[in-house]
Amino acid sequence: MTPGAGPPKPRRYRGRFAPSPTGPLHFGSLVAALGSCLEARRHGGDWLVRIDDIDPAREQPGAADAILRTLERFGFEPDGEIVYQSRRRAAYAEALDGLRARDAVFACGCTRKEVLRLGAPGANGVVYPGTCRNGLPPGREARTWRARADGHIRFDDAFQGPVECDLAGEVGDFLVLRADGWPAYHLAAAVDDVASRITHVVRGHDLLLCTPPQLLLMTHLDAAMPRYGHLPLALNSDGQKLSKQNHAAPLDDTRPVRQIHDALRFLQQNPPDALARGSVGDLWDWAHMHWDPARL
Ligand code: GLU
Repeated sequence: MTPGAGPPKPRRYRGRFAPSPTGPLHFGSLVAALGSCLEARRHGGDWLVRIDDIDPAREQPGAADAILRTLERFGFEPDGEIVYQSRRRAAYAEALDGLRARDAVFACGCTRKEVLRLGAPGANGVVYPGTCRNGLPPGREARTWRARADGHIRFDDAFQGPVECDLAGEVGDFLVLRADGWPAYHLAAAVDDVASRITHVVRGHDLLLCTPPQLLLMTHLDAAMPRYGHLPLALNSDGQKLSKQNHAAPLDDTRPVRQIHDALRFLQQNPPDALARGSVGDLWDWAHMHWDPARL
């Protein structure tokens, strides 16, 4: 033991909200933004905003600015600079080199179609069939890179309780570098959550099964792991999750109070009715004072 070294210092709470600029924010995004922000403030911590703009084919021009404008109109006050993933490709490339050096990833020559045809159904899509896991078959060229998904990952979700995932069976070897040369979401998210010293990731329940692969990558990167909490998911009247893909209604920047009030009610916080007719500032003051995650 180093003389004079005490127990490790607790890290300052840092939360984040990380929208993808594939369209405007919707009610489900507001729930995730509010939950992550109010949790961070309850702990006297920082709350950061990151724009996950690593998928140009799915992005909508102007969406990143529109998202930031909406957050401002809704009274969110991020700490520090906004992080844009598109500007951090060197960091992802460096992390990928580290993963290669550990043999935690392999080059893959399979097309998406082949994976869909040969893979088994998993919890979150298709499980990679393993074709290139032990080396590219003769005549094949690397198109993507995948992480080896072995073993079980367990974590204690702040809102859902203990979660256990059989990585090989439920997730499978997952992409870290896509065929278009951009990093895949799991790699970029893991690298950035570590680089931004995020201590708590609060996000929607639809991303619950993204946590095991991201924790696996953080283990390989020898990083301090954040804690995770997955919020209940807002569904549309057909029982589908609200998403930009199924055209969830965008938030209306001209009526922030009503929508924040609705999101707080969705999160079981019971704000007084009168506050739905008041100011954004009054509603935030109430929320800061009364936010209680035990009600979720
Ligand atoms: N950018 C991802 C999304 O909008 C979420 C990232 C995250 O919270 O980890 O679905």
